[in-house]
Amino acid sequence: MARQPIVQAEPPDEDKKRDAALRPRLLREVIGQKSVKERMEILLRAAKKLKEPMSHMLFDGPPGLGKTTFATVLPNELGTSIQMTSGPALTKPADMLPFLTNAAEGSFLFIDEIHRMPRVVEEFIYPAMEDFRVDIVLGDGLNARTLSMPLKRFTLIGATTRSGMLSGPMRDRFKIHEHLDYYTLEELSEIVTVNARKLNTPITPDAAHELAKRARGTPRVANSRLWWARSYAVSESDGAIDLKLVLAALKMAEVDESGLDKQDRRYLEVIINVFEGGPAGVEAMAATMNLSVDTLSDDIEPYLLREQMLVRTPRGRMATLKAFQHLGKQPKKTDPESPQGLLFA
Ligand code: ADP
Repeated sequence: MARQPIVQAEPPDEDKKRDAALRPRLLREVIGQKSVKERMEILLRAAKKLKEPMSHMLFDGPPGLGKTTFATVLPNELGTSIQMTSGPALTKPADMLPFLTNAAEGSFLFIDEIHRMPRVVEEFIYPAMEDFRVDIVLGDGLNARTLSMPLKRFTLIGATTRSGMLSGPMRDRFKIHEHLDYYTLEELSEIVTVNARKLNTPITPDAAHELAKRARGTPRVANSRLWWARSYAVSESDGAIDLKLVLAALKMAEVDESGLDKQDRRYLEVIINVFEGGPAGVEAMAATMNLSVDTLSDDIEPYLLREQMLVRTPRGRMATLKAFQHLGKQPKKTDPESPQGLLFA
């Protein structure tokens, strides 16, 4: 009987452990994002000289590009602490209160997925961000009174994959906005090489390059491909990673030459086979794939859009000629005028 590859999707906790083990600790260890790094260096130097907390800042960009990394590097550089929470965990102002009152002078508070924070919590933290105070309402009805409580001066760092979903007033309260973009092949190769060293795993330059090539421009994906190649190397050979091993490991993991995995390809199959190339609404795509709209919009679509396998039109998502070709399919008709070789209806 043929051996069946068993490559299960790892639980998100596994991702978190791996991220923590491989995350750079200091700014100079952060690879790529040159201009963001340079601006952070200036702000850090200024904060040290002025002995003032850094301004509140917002990092946006697709998952796995280093938003949390930047957020954790800054307190390490300043020798201060960071508290971490996320938008969905903050359902009411009372959830936010302990973080604000525990914040030490000059420390950091990180809110991941800040676009998912409810409006009431958002409004509750406005005075904390602006004047370092919170207004707590005690009692209710005629007896209600507001107690204004001073806080220590802290820096709020928000991270979001959808800055467009953040309210205008919330966005305006962040004095610094940084957008993180996908990484180049060279940068990802360097990340793979550095992280292989951290994992005490020998790797050849061509193997690091191949892993980088299939990492969808994303350090977290590069880490996960490296982790898998390392397990494969330990299991199937002497633990060292060379090109031949990477090719075999990625074949087994069903990651193709463009770095697309099973889920990415399934997306393309659904839009091409079920929706005849589109246009398809994201809700319809999500329902057909049995995944959440957030997973599609945050994890799957950004890279397909960037690779021009997918385009967003007012009527919905459409697969491009490149997507058809990637799956070895022929579109019925294409529009020769369209740069992406879109189908016409
Ligand atoms: P995000 O918060 O944007 O989802 P993370 O900061 O958690 O992404 O990044 C995921 C992992 O990718 C990190 O643990 C780290 O190992 C790696 N990584 C991200 N950005 C960089 C970078 N610029 N240099 C080196 N490694 C990085």
